[in-house]
Amino acid sequence: MTIAIIGGGICGLTLALNLHQRGIACRVYEAAPELKELGVGITLLPHGMREFTALGLGDQLLRAGIENAESCFFNRFGQLIYKEPRGKRAGYQFPEVGIHRGTLHLALYRAALERLGPGSVVTNRLCVGVEQDEGRARVLFKETSSGGSLPPVPADVVIACDGVNSAVRKQLVGDGVVFTGINTWRGVTRRKPILTGRSYLRIGSMLTGKIVIYPIADDVDGEGNQLINWTTEFKRDTVEMNDWNKPGDIADFISVYESWRFPWLDVAELIAKSDSILEYPMVDKDPLDRWTFGRVTLAGDAAHPMYPRGSNGSAQAVIDARTLADCLAANAEPRDALKAYEAARREATAKVVRTNREHPPDFINIKVEELTGDKPFTNLDDYITQDELRALSESYKRIAGFAVSDVVSPSSSPGRREATRPGDPDRFGTVLPS
Ligand SMILES: Cc1cc2nc3c(=O)[nH]c(=O)nc-3n(C[C@H](O)[C@H](O)[C@H](O)COP(=O)(O)OP(=O)(O)OC[C@H]3O[C@@H](n4cnc5c(N)ncnc54)[C@H](O)[C@@H]3O)c2cc1C
Repeated sequence: MTIAIIGGGICGLTLALNLHQRGIACRVYEAAPELKELGVGITLLPHGMREFTALGLGDQLLRAGIENAESCFFNRFGQLIYKEPRGKRAGYQFPEVGIHRGTLHLALYRAALERLGPGSVVTNRLCVGVEQDEGRARVLFKETSSGGSLPPVPADVVIACDGVNSAVRKQLVGDGVVFTGINTWRGVTRRKPILTGRSYLRIGSMLTGKIVIYPIADDVDGEGNQLINWTTEFKRDTVEMNDWNKPGDIADFISVYESWRFPWLDVAELIAKSDSILEYPMVDKDPLDRWTFGRVTLAGDAAHPMYPRGSNGSAQAVIDARTLADCLAANAEPRDALKAYEAARREATAKVVRTNREHPPDFINIKVEELTGDKPFTNLDDYITQDELRALSESYKRIAGFAVSDVVSPSSSPGRREATRPGDPDRFGTVLPS
């Protein structure tokens, strides 16, 4: 069986490693002429770390990043709303890790080259379409750098891991991204550790301005400074969609954070001292009824791009990769394998896409802002209890498949699921999806 993987990002490379682990040959075709250490921070949740651990990369990624100890939610006045332990401290078998996205990407790339061989990842190959008949598929490429057409590549199976702007998805279903007025700006700042130095912070709400802050590397200069990742996010009615390819401009968003100078953190200064600023639109796509078209299927962000609010996109992408490899190993007929993969993953990921829109983890911040009338509180219990906030947090984990009881080794039994109350309204009338 020849397998062509389109896109050498997190999903494509993880898929190649999983296939190799099962003795199945494949080749990855990546549009970028060269793979470089790009991007800013990414959080690998325990279910994502489970997958990397199964590929023998867990310890390496943990050493290169920061093991999160806690997740803390604050309002925009710097008051603590809720906090909870994370990763192993919360009883998971696997840690939760903040890491530079480029470090993760290069670790996967190097592992693929070492294990599958130097020709296994072909760069400078921009996929421009896929054709197929009863017997085979053919992938159409241009050389990215020159724009010149290349001979079609035949394959028994084509897996599109070409990300949020997937060319293959566009060809198969013709949809575009959904943008609802939320833009984000991101950066990394070198500074002394904040709180425990292992704290993942969500401050404010996207309605009035939100920032997520977490460390991704320790002692980057021998003076105890960490690399701190931050992402701002807020909704406007009339704003244009940010550009993926343009650097961000601090003047476009700093006014929202100018007054966020708390005794424990000067947010405005953190932003102002960033090494550089990137901008992205907050986009996703409506879940599809179908991912598999004969010998071609979609995976990762090409299949289910989601709002990057629950730190879940990469975990879902690498679970897709492992599931695909398992299905291809178990089925001699590739088209049956792709159908089995889709049956296992499509609805599960659609729930995460919808939940990231409606009830993401920072729903806690939105709820408290609403209950307190967006004012500082004296006693939060007068509005909402810690148990109720914990229930909101646990509900997201269950939907996204990383309640403690869900995150067991892929080889062991799925284990008992926690008792849930999906579908029941809470006392505020919020119905959490099942
Ligand atoms: C701002 C932001 C923050 C995020 N934070 C987190 C986080 O904290 N935790 C988390 O788990 N997830 C996070 N995500 C989501 C995560 O990055 C994605 O879910 C994940 O990268 C999906 O992997 P992928 O391989 O499907 O896509 P990508 O990683 O985007 O890879 C796609 C690859 O395909 C290549 N490609 C594109 N088009 C073509 C083509 N036509 N031909 C050939 N190659 C092509 C691209 O160059 C790229 O290498 C975040 C996303 C964003 C945008």
